[in-house]
Amino acid sequence: MEKMKFTTKAVHTGVSKDSSYNSVITPLYTSSTFRFNKVGETNGYDYTRSGNPTRTALCENLAALEGGAAGYATATGMAAVTGVLHLLKSGDHVIAGNDIYGGTYRLLDSVFRNMGVETTFVDMSNPENLNKALLPNTKLVWIESPSNPLMNIVDIKMMVKAVNCEPFPLVCVDNTFPSPYLQRPLELGAHLVVHSTTKYINGHSDVVGGAIIAKDKELGDRIAFVVNALGLAQAPFDSWLVLRGVKTLALRMEQHQKNAHALAEFLENHKAVKKVYYPGLKSHKGHKLASVQMSGFGGMLSFDLDDTVCDMHKLFENLSLYALAESLGGVESLIEAPWYMSHLSMPEQARKEAGINQYNIRVSLGIEDTDDLIDDMSRALDASQFHTVQEIGSEV
Ligand SMILES: *Cc1c(COP(=O)(O)O)cnc(C)c1O
Repeated sequence: MEKMKFTTKAVHTGVSKDSSYNSVITPLYTSSTFRFNKVGETNGYDYTRSGNPTRTALCENLAALEGGAAGYATATGMAAVTGVLHLLKSGDHVIAGNDIYGGTYRLLDSVFRNMGVETTFVDMSNPENLNKALLPNTKLVWIESPSNPLMNIVDIKMMVKAVNCEPFPLVCVDNTFPSPYLQRPLELGAHLVVHSTTKYINGHSDVVGGAIIAKDKELGDRIAFVVNALGLAQAPFDSWLVLRGVKTLALRMEQHQKNAHALAEFLENHKAVKKVYYPGLKSHKGHKLASVQMSGFGGMLSFDLDDTVCDMHKLFENLSLYALAESLGGVESLIEAPWYMSHLSMPEQARKEAGINQYNIRVSLGIEDTDDLIDDMSRALDASQFHTVQEIGSEV
């Protein structure tokens, strides 16, 4: 079937017929090595770092979901980022958003800078910033949209146009937040997509993994070389788990974003909340663009707590359905303070420049019942205010 829709692709792509026992699910091949038929002739696999049938099934699935020519599953999301950055060499220049994932920021700023690859971090909400930063040796533009934790939206199509990439710079989009269900950057002109499959694609908070998807075969072959040469590939069991998770991506994303939308609207009207960052809200500055670029607004939001009204630490303690934890995209709801947790790997100045403050709180909505999540947040916010009605009452 040529024209399968997203949900069907997620269930069927890469799942080949098992010739041994007709198993319906992709078998898990944990073997590190494969027998040769004779010298120079294999059944398609020789050694699991270089290739593994279980991992291949996942790679084909992810490539299909992103609409790319080739996909590669890596041990972690950072391994995927590492793979793409190894397309560069000393003397090359990168432009990246100033509010990208903290680990990617650190890798560019502290590791690759020492290897002679300079990065300019810019506010990508304005394409002019990109033009100003562009140098003759700019080989890569790194985009994240929606960004983390303020959910800024970057116009991917316009960025591709602005850098006028022939043959460089390559445009790579970290598509972890929206997942391919809500946004497909290759269709918008990007050359590469990376994922932390740890998040929505696996979706069950029980594996770390990453992926690189390339627009065309030539770029895919270069990625394949780097992934094998650096040893970045994902283990068979982890690949199998991610393949298991991705089949329900569409269903999960629908509930994640239903919950996020409901919580965003609830928080926007709460007196202990100063500001809500969710692209689904009309008040969000990226709302219009997100409505066009994405097919939904996703399951992540953040908000600024009014610290004169509510105690953040008490709030975390008083919540029972939202676990205080980093990461995101799992079936259970998570909450955290980016300034102190997920974004601590960014220098303080960089956090400030990205617009993150000490009272910003990020929420990854799970797939629990919407009313239960709102009730829990409502109760915890009330219980965490400095002067509750009960306290004033008891003082009298
Ligand atoms: C988590 C994350 C990463 C890194 O992925 P790991 O699986 O933790 O290595 C990269 N980008 C984004 C947007 C992420 O959320």
